[in-house]
Amino acid sequence: MKTFPMFLRLDGRRVVIAGGGEQAAQKTRLMLKTEAAIVVAAGELDPELAALAARGRIEQDAGPVSAETFRGAALAFIATGDAERDAAYAGFARAAGVIANVVDAPDLCDAYTPSLVDRDPVVVAIGTEGTAPVLARQIKTRVEEMLEPRLGDLAALAGRLRDQVAEKISPARRRAFWGWVFSDAPRRLHARGAERDAARLLKEAIAAGGIGAESAAGFVSLVGAGPGSRDLVTLRGVQRLQEADIIFYDRLVDPGLLELARRDAERVYVGKEVGFPAWPQERINGVIVAAAREGKRVVRLKSGDPGIFGRGAEEATALDAAGIGWEIVPGVTSASAASAALGGFLTERGVTDTVVITTGQTRDGVAQGDWASQLRPGTTLALYMAVANAGRIQADMLAQGLPGDLPVDVVCRAAAPDQEILHTRLDRMAPEIAAAGIANPAILLLRHPKDHRAAPALHLKTGA
Ligand code: SAH
Repeated sequence: MKTFPMFLRLDGRRVVIAGGGEQAAQKTRLMLKTEAAIVVAAGELDPELAALAARGRIEQDAGPVSAETFRGAALAFIATGDAERDAAYAGFARAAGVIANVVDAPDLCDAYTPSLVDRDPVVVAIGTEGTAPVLARQIKTRVEEMLEPRLGDLAALAGRLRDQVAEKISPARRRAFWGWVFSDAPRRLHARGAERDAARLLKEAIAAGGIGAESAAGFVSLVGAGPGSRDLVTLRGVQRLQEADIIFYDRLVDPGLLELARRDAERVYVGKEVGFPAWPQERINGVIVAAAREGKRVVRLKSGDPGIFGRGAEEATALDAAGIGWEIVPGVTSASAASAALGGFLTERGVTDTVVITTGQTRDGVAQGDWASQLRPGTTLALYMAVANAGRIQADMLAQGLPGDLPVDVVCRAAAPDQEILHTRLDRMAPEIAAAGIANPAILLLRHPKDHRAAPALHLKTGA
C-alpha cells in the first residue's frame, strides 16, 4: 500500500479549498458532508459558492494565496482549474505542512479522495491508488446495493443505546444481540421504514437482558425476481438474497440472480422440470415453513411480482398458521416488462385508462372470462398463461362481440435476451401465435382504445 486509509476527524477543524469555480465547488460539496470549518480561498466565487458564503456555511478568503492561507488547516484541496496555479498552491500547502489533494494532479497529491458510500455515520471508502477509478465505481455500486439508505440511522440508534446495552446485557450475550440487531428483525423493520417498531424491539430486548430463543426464529421474504432478467430485480430483493440462508426458486427465475446470493446459501429448485412432476404447492409450503422453523432466513424467489399469479397467498397462509413472520418484496411483473419491450404504455391518457390483469388459465382449465366487460373501450388487457388457450379465448372474445381488429401484442420471454414479439389482431391471434411457434412464458396484451370503431358484426359469427 502506498496510501493508508484513515478516517480524519474534521469537526471544527479548518479545511482550505483553493479555487472558486466548479472544481472547488465539487470539493466543497464533499466537505459539506463533514462538520469542518470550510474556507474557500479565491478572489471570486461561482454562484453556488457565493450563496454558501452568504449563508455563512463557508468562509471566503479573498486575499492572495500564500503558505499562510493554508497554515493550521487539517486538509487542503487545490482546485483552481488552472494546472500551473494549482502546482504553485500545492507548494504553499506543502510549505505550511498541510496534507493536500490537488485535482487532476496525482503526483502533487499527499492524499486521494476515495469513492464513498455514505450512510453517515457508517461510511465505506474505496480507493485504488488511482489505478482503476472505474473499478472503484463498480465496487461502490455493489456496496450501495448492499447497504439500505436508512442503515446510518440504525447505526446511530445503536450508538445511542450502547451504554444501556453495556449496563443491561452481559458481555457473553452482547455479540449475539448486536448480530441480531444488524441482520435480523430490527434491521429489516428499520430498512422498511418501520423505525419506531425497530427501536421498540431493541429496547424490549435490552430490557430483557438480551435476545430470547423466539428472536432467533426464521423469517420468510417472498421476493419478486422480475420477468427473467437479473437486472430487473429490486435492490431490496438483492439485499434479501444476500441475507438468505436458503433460497427456494422456481421456473422462469433468471439463474443469474442466484449468483447474487451468498456463496454458502442453500438453493432449492421447487419448479417444474421436464419429465418430472411439479412440486405440489403443499409440499412447497411445507419446506418453507420447515426451513423458517430452523431459524433460517428464507427467500422464496418468484418470477415477476409475487402478488400476481404467484400463489403467494397460499404460502403466506401456511406461514401465518405456523406463526412465522413474512414479507413481500415486490417485483416487476411480466405485463410491465412486456409493455416496456414493445415501447408501449399500459395506460395512455385519453386512450386507455384501465389495465386488467387476468389469466387465460384458471384452476379448472381455460378461463371463461366475461371478456367483453373486461376489455371495454379504454382498457389494456394483460393475459397471463394464455398462449396455450389462445384459440378458445379468441373464439369466446369474438363471440362476445369484441371487434376482430383489436390490436394484440404477444411478448414471449419479455426482457430476456431471446425475447420474441408478435403483433397481430384479435381475429387472427391464435393461428398466428401457433404459426410463430410461441409458447409460454408469454404475455398477451390486448388494447381496446377509447375511440376504437367497432368492427363489422360479421365477427360475431366466428364464436365457437
Ligand atoms: N408472478 C409472475 C407471473 C407468474 S405466472 C409475474 O408477475 O409476472 C406465469 C406466467 O407469467 C407465464 O405463463 C407468462 O404468461 C407470464 N410470464 C412470466 N415471465 C414472463 C416473461 N418473461 N415474458 C412474458 N411472460 C411472462
